[in-house]
Amino acid sequence: MRTLSLLGATGSVGASTLDLVRRQPGTWGVRALTAHSNAAELARLAREFSAEVAVIADETRLPELRAALSGSGIAAAGGAAALVEAAARGADLTVAAIVGCAGLAPTMAAIEQGGIIALANKEALVSAGEVMIAAVATHGATLLPIDSEHNAIFQCLAGNDPAHVRWITLTASGGPFRDWPWERLCAATPAEAVRHPNWDMGAKISVDSATMFNKGLELIEAHHLFPVGLDRLRIIVHPQSIVHSMVEYRDGSTLAQLGPSDMRVPIASALAWPRRMDTPCEPLDLAAIGELTFRKPDEERFPATRLAREAAQAGGAVPAVLNAANEVAVAAFLDGQIPFTRIAAHVENVLNAYAPPPPACLTDVLAVDSEARARALQLTLSVG
Ligand code: NAD
Ligand code: MG
Repeated sequence: MRTLSLLGATGSVGASTLDLVRRQPGTWGVRALTAHSNAAELARLAREFSAEVAVIADETRLPELRAALSGSGIAAAGGAAALVEAAARGADLTVAAIVGCAGLAPTMAAIEQGGIIALANKEALVSAGEVMIAAVATHGATLLPIDSEHNAIFQCLAGNDPAHVRWITLTASGGPFRDWPWERLCAATPAEAVRHPNWDMGAKISVDSATMFNKGLELIEAHHLFPVGLDRLRIIVHPQSIVHSMVEYRDGSTLAQLGPSDMRVPIASALAWPRRMDTPCEPLDLAAIGELTFRKPDEERFPATRLAREAAQAGGAVPAVLNAANEVAVAAFLDGQIPFTRIAAHVENVLNAYAPPPPACLTDVLAVDSEARARALQLTLSVG
């Protein structure tokens, strides 16, 4: 039996992960399962998978979690520190599937235990960048990307020398608004933004896909995971989401990874790594799909990828500021406080006004994150 901890068990990636774990009885011993505030669902999952501990981030829900787990022998804990403690128990494999920078401290605690970290929580890597990559090296941890594009690149790089890479090309669906003119974008509603054409995901990443901040964050994520140089990373819009990303080598060979738009494929590749496992996903029927198309991104309507590239170029604390401002702006948009097209404008304003020195450790990153959030919130209140 291999041990597994799942940070963010009640989310979309969490559900896909547990679906695969459920199909491999006797393979996984579940250590920690965590959630933000849904105590009933967390307790149900903890019982189903006989977890050692269940942790609820929102401490006010701890009594509810305790009650729901009574008599099960499963430990219950609550609060941000308990989340970190649960991750610090270590496991052969930790799936980091919390959304946002809220997942950073527990992910770092798991890295410090030196196991395999299957990373979905891109905001953590974007914010902590060098600090996280250094911790991975120091503690001998293994970072396996399960973001579909990075998992594709990881697979396409296998067995090849990164020095021979000419281009890494991240594919982007373009989101639900890819063909919308600016005037229509200005009036886009939260309900329209979370209705992604190809993927079924949490609300935050769905809005990020609509603004293209998701691809911007992924560009920064790729920059840290695959250090071939920013000038070798590019983005192409591919509306069908079948080619999940590509690597072109110096000899002109391009390797691509294809698959259905189902997160269970990249998650399975991390769970079984370096082997393979079965998934229940439909086999790819290219004849039925018929056409795979590609086009250039439009940074006039969707400035997020430009902002992210500039943040990656600047390095240091800048990506953490970009991420924090985006998290606040997305929440404000979902809450009806700002229009869709103000999300990128907000992020750009915060980036222009706040340039802290490069963070040297996790505490520094968290301080930058919290100051950038405060400024973004202030901006939301002042300009709406
Ligand atoms: P989600 O909103 O569906 O789930 C998020 C999980 O994190 C839930 O379990 C929630 O309880 C927990 N959580 C939320 N806020 C928290 C907090 N403050 N403290 C502790 N826990 C908290 O999100 P998701 O779509 O599953 O995405 C999770 C991560 O994976 C994100 O970083 C996202 O960018 C990335 N990702 C998701 C997909 C996808 O298909 N959903 C694909 C690629 C990458
Ligand atoms: Mg992705």
